[in-house]
Amino acid sequence: MLGNLSSFNRKTICRNDGLPGLVHGDMVPPYRDALRHLLFHGHHNLLSPESTLQVMSDAIRHDWSTEETLAILQSPLLDLVQRARTIHSDHHGNDSVQLASLLSLKTGGCSEDCNYCPQSVHHSTNVGNGDLMAYDQVLDTARKARELGASRFCMGAAWRQVHDGEEFDRVLNMVRGVGALGMETCVTLGMLSQDQARRLAEAGLTAYNHNLDTSPEYYNKIISTRDFEDRMETLRHVREAGISLCVGGIIGMGESDRDRARMLEILAGLDPHPESVPINALVAVVGTPLENRPPVDPLDLVRMCATARILMPESRVRLSAGRHQLSREAQVLCFLAGANSIFYGEKLLTTANTECEEDRRLLRELGLSPLPPDVDKPTPATSAA
Ligand code: SF4
Repeated sequence: MLGNLSSFNRKTICRNDGLPGLVHGDMVPPYRDALRHLLFHGHHNLLSPESTLQVMSDAIRHDWSTEETLAILQSPLLDLVQRARTIHSDHHGNDSVQLASLLSLKTGGCSEDCNYCPQSVHHSTNVGNGDLMAYDQVLDTARKARELGASRFCMGAAWRQVHDGEEFDRVLNMVRGVGALGMETCVTLGMLSQDQARRLAEAGLTAYNHNLDTSPEYYNKIISTRDFEDRMETLRHVREAGISLCVGGIIGMGESDRDRARMLEILAGLDPHPESVPINALVAVVGTPLENRPPVDPLDLVRMCATARILMPESRVRLSAGRHQLSREAQVLCFLAGANSIFYGEKLLTTANTECEEDRRLLRELGLSPLPPDVDKPTPATSAA
């Protein structure tokens, strides 16, 4: 009986049940408050407190507290995965996985001092300071990624911030060119002004990646050359330009569970939620200040994916850096916990990734199919530069 009620209420509260205006996340606040009151306090309190919390957690919310998020993150693993899986099925019933390929357009020589990054000039790694890649090479790589099944092509440049000028103009042209291949485009170029975000939008950019990395409280242990607020400002510019947000973070840098929860809480506080949420495990690169960090426990990644899924039911939760260090079984658990996007291709910006054939085999075994590109935006004309 309870299970039926729980299921009934979850759908009634959160899904489009045919009544105008009652679409999940869109519930008119007085109805929501009345329903919350009924569920928690009414004399017809039909659900146990746990079930009630489960029901309410399925709604799209932007007001998760640190304590709530931490409690979810630290809940018994099987309960956590089960709850995330239920929410995942409700919101992403089609069992598709987004395959995103990543290319470093300009590697190394970055003036920021992110402790995890081998591309920083502050660290002694074997990553040099490359030039911006040529347009044709980028387009060739994108075509190959498309042939292998990728729907999104992500391009990164190791810049602190974008500078207007010839190099940015070339990147804009690459965005147009990749878009013309029928792929979603994403770039990560560091901090952006409002005007630069607008120009990227005009070039047809689908998404901008700009990770929060960690919690605001732990931020200065990881990066000293910028503030957490700098990050948030760029995210605002991206949103205002109408570009979708790809924003997540990294675990395994010595942060606490509370820091992890804080980061997720802040991501879930964005309204609307980020379209993509990459969850990265630190790849400890020799020569970086974090080179001696112990490997991330795969189950911690599962917990992060599940908590992100619960907090942000409709986002694409991307299993990102560090995936190649996971066993197939651990990856399966991450998918079960709500991950539905991966970086696909044998290399990330500078570190290794899982082989494409291995990924395809795993997805086939799991019955997951690659998500086709969502390229509704009109694609601007392209030309080589
Ligand atoms: S993470 Fe990005 S901003 Fe930080 S050092 Fe690396 S390239 Fe630069």
